[in-house]
Amino acid sequence: MAAAALDARRTALAALAAEPFDVLVIGGGINGAGIARDAALRGLRTALVEQGDLASGTSSRSSKLIHGGLRYLAQGHVRLGLAACRERARLRRLAPHLVRPQRFVYPVYAGGPVSKVKLGLGLFAYDLLAGWWSVARHRLLSAAAIHEAEPTLRTDGLRGAGCYWDAQTDDARLVLETALAAACEGAVVASYAGVTALVRSGGRLTGARVVDRLSGETIEVGAAVVVNAAGPWVDRVAALDEPAAPRLRLTKGVHVLVRRDRIGHRDAIVLHARRDRRVMFVIPWGEVSLIGTTDTDHVGGPDTPPVVEPDDVAYLLETVNHYFPDARLDASHVVSAFAGLRPLVAPPVSATAAPSDVSREEEIFVSKSGLISLAGGKLTTYRLVAAEVVDRVVAAIRRAGDPRRFGRSRTGEIPLPGGSAEPAHVAAEALARDGHGMPPAVVEYLAGRYGSRLGEVLGLVGVERSLAAPISAALPDPRAEVVAAVEREWAVTLEDVLRRRTQVALHDETSGAAVAGEVAQLMAPALGWSTDVARAAADAYVADVQRDRRRWR
Ligand SMILES: Cc1cc2nc3c(=O)[nH]c(=O)nc-3n(C[C@H](O)[C@H](O)[C@H](O)COP(=O)(O)OP(=O)(O)OC[C@H]3O[C@@H](n4cnc5c(N)ncnc54)[C@H](O)[C@@H]3O)c2cc1C
Repeated sequence: MAAAALDARRTALAALAAEPFDVLVIGGGINGAGIARDAALRGLRTALVEQGDLASGTSSRSSKLIHGGLRYLAQGHVRLGLAACRERARLRRLAPHLVRPQRFVYPVYAGGPVSKVKLGLGLFAYDLLAGWWSVARHRLLSAAAIHEAEPTLRTDGLRGAGCYWDAQTDDARLVLETALAAACEGAVVASYAGVTALVRSGGRLTGARVVDRLSGETIEVGAAVVVNAAGPWVDRVAALDEPAAPRLRLTKGVHVLVRRDRIGHRDAIVLHARRDRRVMFVIPWGEVSLIGTTDTDHVGGPDTPPVVEPDDVAYLLETVNHYFPDARLDASHVVSAFAGLRPLVAPPVSATAAPSDVSREEEIFVSKSGLISLAGGKLTTYRLVAAEVVDRVVAAIRRAGDPRRFGRSRTGEIPLPGGSAEPAHVAAEALARDGHGMPPAVVEYLAGRYGSRLGEVLGLVGVERSLAAPISAALPDPRAEVVAAVEREWAVTLEDVLRRRTQVALHDETSGAAVAGEVAQLMAPALGWSTDVARAAADAYVADVQRDRRRWR
């Protein structure tokens, strides 16, 4: 299909310039995508613009948990904890392929920050809070039982453990599927399209100026209401409207991934960091363990990318090495690492609290000219927050004299695009039809990522057999995923494909550098790239990942 992705992109940009929209959403992270989907489902003419790739901001750099927030409960944020427990249950239903139960083990040590009694009470309260929405009830284990369950965990001073359940997701694909759902409902979605100015008439916002970051062209998008869901850039976008004191305190959170067999854990483990006793996690993530996170103030604004420093790696590994003495991890064992910015609602000028003590609750604020901004929040509760924002959009539209009626939010009832069947069922059906000759383990793996959209990827293999080959020999992802990402999922760079549509960059020892050339060739036809352009894209990707790795390795 010649340059199919480019054609689709041109059509979207032309639609942005042509149509007047009811709502323009700025920011293609989980919140912006959620707002666009909710608005489109209610029948609003909706546009979503993202300055980079979808989920390229904070929403692909999280701990990838859909969690009730045991810690929020401990901090007294009961409202957030209750909402999160309900959402965890709902998202499991709406996207069973993307939100899966995960068991957590919270070991208790003599002299540690949490006693077994306190943990037991906390887990009891957590179950009570979750009520019907609980994944499964907690259990308390003796030291002997926890040793049997997690034999590589430190035994010195081990007093026992609490086991509880939360859920795990693929954050970038959750955003992607939410944006796909918005587009299915008629929203116009454009990535690499950044807002550089807001347009107003008679004191009210009437749209925004958007720069296509691939061509450099500027277009004006007309909208009755503009929503600022720019995550760490919320203050920056709000300042395009009116000067105001910053609302956000940006803190950096780093995760590292190491081979899981080095640590030998089975479930997700809750640990207290050696330096400051903060809670951190070691989470199974396929063949690797996701270890995180740090929480330190970010120096520089949102345009200063957060980077992984050697001290971040040391902070995380020294704790894992203490609790898993045989792991003996150092930076050379880190397969990959990433850093994200938490857009926390707390102005930097009054930043007296420790970063970890700043609330994770969101705040919605509306400017005099009508800009609706959303700051803070969680991946877990995005759907609720989106509904609240769209309620305000609808109210603003009606206040302006528009007689149309828009219904209530329906995002809690309609599955995400791949969520209409259980992954195991999808895989079994595909295999019963021969799975296009793909190994059963790969079909099952793909069903776990694409859910009921599995046929879109397998169909590509049916047309072109060579797309069944893996992108990287050590990983299950077939090449068909590269083509699907570019043709159907708005991917336009190697990083989009290797880091967010697939997770090759996170699981591969070279962060995908070893396969960059082949991946660029696979992307080339849909993007209209010549051989030279494809080679230059691969070289640039390799240079970027090598620079990043040199910083901490
Ligand atoms: C280390 C870490 C771990 C976390 N772990 C969890 C977790 O396990 N579970 C959980 O529920 N939450 C977690 N969170 C919180 C959660 O990830 C964030 O709250 C959420 O992703 C924020 O989404 P967002 O859409 O507001 O921001 P973003 O994802 O940053 O999206 C904002 C987007 O706006 C775009 N943008 C900015 N300016 C413009 C412009 N001018 N024009 C167009 N686009 C623009 C940006 O490019 C960006 O993509 C974690 C956060 C961090 C940092």
